[in-house]
Formats: sequence, structure tokens, C-alpha cells
Amino acid sequence: MHLAFDPSYARLPERFFARQDPTPGAAPAPVVVNRALAARLGIDAGWLESAEGTAVLAGNLVPAGAEPIAQAYAGHQFGGFVPQLGDGRAILLGELVAPDGMRFDWVLKGAGRTPWSRGGDGRAWIGPVLREYLVSETMAAFGVPTTRALGAVLTGQGVYRDGFSRPGAVIARIAASHIRVGTFEYFAARGDLEALATLCDYTLSRHYPEAEGPLGLLAAAVAAQARLVAQWLSFGFIHGVMNTDNCALSGETIDYGPCAFLDAYHPQKVFSSIDRQGRYAYANQPQIALWNLAQLASCLLPLIGPEAAAVEQAQAVLDGFAPAYQAEWLYRMGRKIGLARATPEDRPLIESLLARMASEGADFTRTFRGLATGRAREEFADPAAFDTWAPGWQARLRREVVPQAVLSAANPVRIPRNHRLEEVIAAAVTGDFAPFRQLQAALAHPFDPAPEFAAYEAAPTAEERVTRTFC
Ligand code: AMP
Ligand code: MG
Ligand code: MG
Repeated sequence: MHLAFDPSYARLPERFFARQDPTPGAAPAPVVVNRALAARLGIDAGWLESAEGTAVLAGNLVPAGAEPIAQAYAGHQFGGFVPQLGDGRAILLGELVAPDGMRFDWVLKGAGRTPWSRGGDGRAWIGPVLREYLVSETMAAFGVPTTRALGAVLTGQGVYRDGFSRPGAVIARIAASHIRVGTFEYFAARGDLEALATLCDYTLSRHYPEAEGPLGLLAAAVAAQARLVAQWLSFGFIHGVMNTDNCALSGETIDYGPCAFLDAYHPQKVFSSIDRQGRYAYANQPQIALWNLAQLASCLLPLIGPEAAAVEQAQAVLDGFAPAYQAEWLYRMGRKIGLARATPEDRPLIESLLARMASEGADFTRTFRGLATGRAREEFADPAAFDTWAPGWQARLRREVVPQAVLSAANPVRIPRNHRLEEVIAAAVTGDFAPFRQLQAALAHPFDPAPEFAAYEAAPTAEERVTRTFC
């Protein structure tokens, strides 16, 4: 099988990465191949499912044309700066050039140790692998910018976590790139201006060829993050670990760890077991994105020009985040209540609904979809909270041309609910992948109210509710 690799990142200066082959797994076994994504990338899905494809997905066989590396990066983790992180369990095989000329990173996550593994084993277990697979593919089905999952395999080895041996696995992640805010921080912290300039040019040519210079890059990153985070909020998504090393310059959602979709709506909801202060709570995400962009801006300052002027120029670009985010949020949330193009006067209507949902424990996804089916009021502990909101909404809808179509297109019927993901993982640990395949099928067309997947529409019962998610 010929794979159109063109590893341009591996041609950057050697200090950008460490050359590192994946470590073979003991007995690789296939779990899943993403046939549609394989086709989009120009990879023969049948080959990817073969023994040779499985060996590539497991890191047991390095395909011709790949130049495996672990990337160097730093990062602010929960606000504290770590000057050296790097890929500790992810290996970039190289970039694949798709038939349409688009370039994608192909990373194997869980394929063994690297020079940046520190005390870690460089491995992943099947739980987080299936979680990333399902959640990232659902985000793609929602139309939210995201890394994709090309496939997953079992390594045939146990991985120790919390004193238990769990089935080891590798996920093949496809991304526009893995350049992070933390990549810029890595070189900025070392005062390596030459590397910073190289990284800036490389990122511009790869993602924003129409933009120019460090300010152009910053403006593009600001626009991409504003758009991304507004979309997260509109689907009730909480990333969970918005550290600067998990903030991609491409504007894709990256690194699905202890992430979650809200069930009962509350703006301060936190699921991640490692987020003890609620730094990355649902409604904090736009401010955190801006904070991350400010870290990027400070890395770029020496490339912009003399300090005082550079600070002023960078600040002006950062000031563009709030209006861009607000406009995107209004557009997305407006569509969720059936408005093709909400205007600022519509904002109170949206905010009033959200406030009522929060106080009445309404399920986020079911309430918005319920606006299309007339069943939204059932989601409110006290349906009067909905009934007193609805007349104003219905009056506003009379000025819309196709509100029903907008509602159905903006509001998914199914999301990867936390309790369903846990069910999938618990079964996979025992070797049963049937629940995974069922959930995968249910999430392939999340806006389609297919009756055979009705069970996946349900909110968790009190006993099923998951309040904490883990990496
Ligand atoms: P993450 O939480 O995935 O964003 O990872 C944060 C940092 O910890 C990155 O440098 C990872 O490569 C590293 N890391 C996380 N888990 C492992 C592991 N099992 N082995 C080695 N490095 C790891
Ligand atoms: Mg090196
Ligand atoms: Mg990460």
C-alpha cells in the first residue's frame, strides 16, 4: 500500500522534535477502522483492516515514507508554566497528503515511550482510546473543527493505571497539525527567536497562507479559537483540560481527555476529576481560550517589533476575540432556538431560556431538540418555567421563514452521553465491543431521529448519572 507521506515537520530544525520510532505492541488486534476517513485520506480501508494495516496502526510497522518523531512543546497546565512537556505517548508518523492536496498529521497515541515520557509508560488503555474515538468523530459529525480518529487497535499488552492492569490500545489521530500554543511557548521560554520565527512561518504557510507575519498569525488564531469555543458551548461540550499544550493553532478541538457533554445544563458544570478549582468549567471556556491566546501573543512579541508598540498591536488583536466570540455564539445559539440569523436584540431571549434551564435542571441536548418536537417543556422540573418563556419565543419565530428546518439542523438528537461512554468502556475491558459498535452507529448521524437509536436519546437516570470524568 502506497501512503502519500510528506513529513515536512521532520524537515524543520532538529530541536523541534526527537526522532522516535513507535514501540511494537506484543500482539496487535484490530478494533475499528474509520472507513470514511480512510477514503477521504486516500487510504484503502481494506488494507487498513488487514494484518499489515493493523501492524501500522499499532506501531509495529513503520510505513514507507513516514519519519516518526515526537514533537517538542511546553505548556501552561492549569495556569502554571511547564517549560518542557513534549509528546510523551504520541508519535507523529508524518503528514499524509490527501488526494485533494490537503495535508494531515497522522499520530499514533499510546505507541510507546519517547524522550519526553518522564515517568510515564508512553501507553494508553482502551478506555480513553474509545472515548476519543467516539467523541472526536461525533464532533466531526456536528461540523465542529476537530482532530479525527482513523482507527484503534489493541496492543495485546496490559497497561497499569490505579493499580489495575487494563487492555493497552493505540488510537490513530488525524489532525490539520499538532502545532500548539505550547509549541511557541517552548521556544519563547528558551529565548530561541530563530526557532520562533521558523515556527511562525511554518504555521502560517500550513494553516493561514493568506495571513502575514506574527500579527497575522495571532489574528487568525484568535478568529479560529473564538469560532471553536462558541461551537463547543452550542453543543454543551466541556473540553476539560484547556491547557495551552491542548490549544491547537489550527483551531481544531484537540486532546479528548476528561471531556464531557453536559446533561443537565449549568454554566459552572465541571466533569474533569483533575480540574479541582473549576478553571475549565463550561462557561469559563471563552475566557480561558483568550487567556491561552494571550500566552501565544506574548511568545510572538519579539517577532512583532519594538516592545511597547508590539504589546499595543498584540493587545488590539486580542481585543478582537470578545466580539468575534459573541457574534459566533449569538449565531449558533440563535439557530438552536430556530433563528436563522439572530441579532443582538435576540440575546435576552436565548439567555432567559438558558437561565430557566439552569434553575430547572433541564437536559441541554433534549431541551433544544425538544424545541423542534414540541417536547421541550418536559425537561423542566417545573414546566411553568418553560411555559412563561415560550410565548415570547413563538412570537419571535413568526418572523422566521423556516424555523423548523433551522431547529432540526442545529440541534442533535443524540450526543455521546457520559454514562453511555462508561458502559462502552466497561464492556470493552471485558473484550465485548458490541456496545461500542452500537454507540458508534448511533452517533454517525446525530441529527437524524432514527427510531432504532431512540434509547440513546435518554438522559441518565439518577443512578446512571456520571459526575466525574477521568483521563
Ligand atoms: P495530556 O494530558 O494528554 O495533554 O498530556 C500532558 C503531558 O503528559 C504530555 O506531555 C503527555 O505526552 C504526557 N503524558 C501523559 N500521559 C503519559 C503517559 N502515559 N506516558 C508518557 N507521557 C504521558
Ligand atoms: Mg531533536
Ligand atoms: Mg495534551
